Amino acid sequence: MRTPGQRRLGAGPVAAAVLAVLLTGCGGGPDGSGAGAPASTAELPAPAQRSPAAAPAKEGTQAAAPAPAKAGSDNAASDKAMPDKAHSDPASPGVVVNKRRPLSPQDFVPPKLVVPRVERTVAAERVRLRPDAAAAVEKMFAAAAADGVGLTLVSGYRSFEEQAATYNHWVGQYGDEAQADEVSARAGHSEHQTGLAFDIGQADGTCTLVLCFRDTEAARWTAQHAARYGFILRYPQGHHEVTGFSAESWHFRYVGPEIAGAMKAAGTATLEEHFGLPPAPGY
Ligand SMILES: [Zn+2]
Repeated sequence: MRTPGQRRLGAGPVAAAVLAVLLTGCGGGPDGSGAGAPASTAELPAPAQRSPAAAPAKEGTQAAAPAPAKAGSDNAASDKAMPDKAHSDPASPGVVVNKRRPLSPQDFVPPKLVVPRVERTVAAERVRLRPDAAAAVEKMFAAAAADGVGLTLVSGYRSFEEQAATYNHWVGQYGDEAQADEVSARAGHSEHQTGLAFDIGQADGTCTLVLCFRDTEAARWTAQHAARYGFILRYPQGHHEVTGFSAESWHFRYVGPEIAGAMKAAGTATLEEHFGLPPAPGY
């Protein structure tokens, strides 16, 4: 329906700079760009009201019964009725967060967040991840380095408040929500808030969060090897109508090796399809 590519690319010399901060739809916004980024550093999350659940996470096996596709409905309440607790529980590595599936509770904070010991381009607070995701990031980055590919971590956990500020920033930039929705998730709808999602860059810092990243060795290597470490490319090219976002070759999501491996083996591109959940092209 919408063709953001046309809109973005026609804008002349300003386009490249704008593009640099636009293509962060993961909920993104101005990660690493410095463009008026809401700088509200998250408070350290309160240690756990809930325990990190010894994992209701054996998801690899079967998708929940496909829910009746409720096209056009934005009634989030009906999502909750779906028999897919693991995909609704933000503490589960199998959680699916998209424009039709907000986090529940919307102000969810992961019980524990740590800073992966890898190269990063931003403050430590901005690359925090859940411990399981952080450990996998460390392994993947080490493996990439061993293959001569330098990766950097560009963003990680983002709080509800940070996401709200980021989204509002883009609404202000565009002047309307429809365009902001193409590139930034509304608060409570970003999987960055789960502590399971992160963005990568390449060591020399070029093409960070912009289209040309997809042509880098860093992107190629990661796309090829991510599954082994439990990651999927969450917003692959050509699946905008399912994920709700344009392709992002830098945004990865921890789902665990079992799910990631099953998706790779089956050639399934999106979490929604893997779990038999409805597409989420819009709110
Ligand atoms: Zn992202």
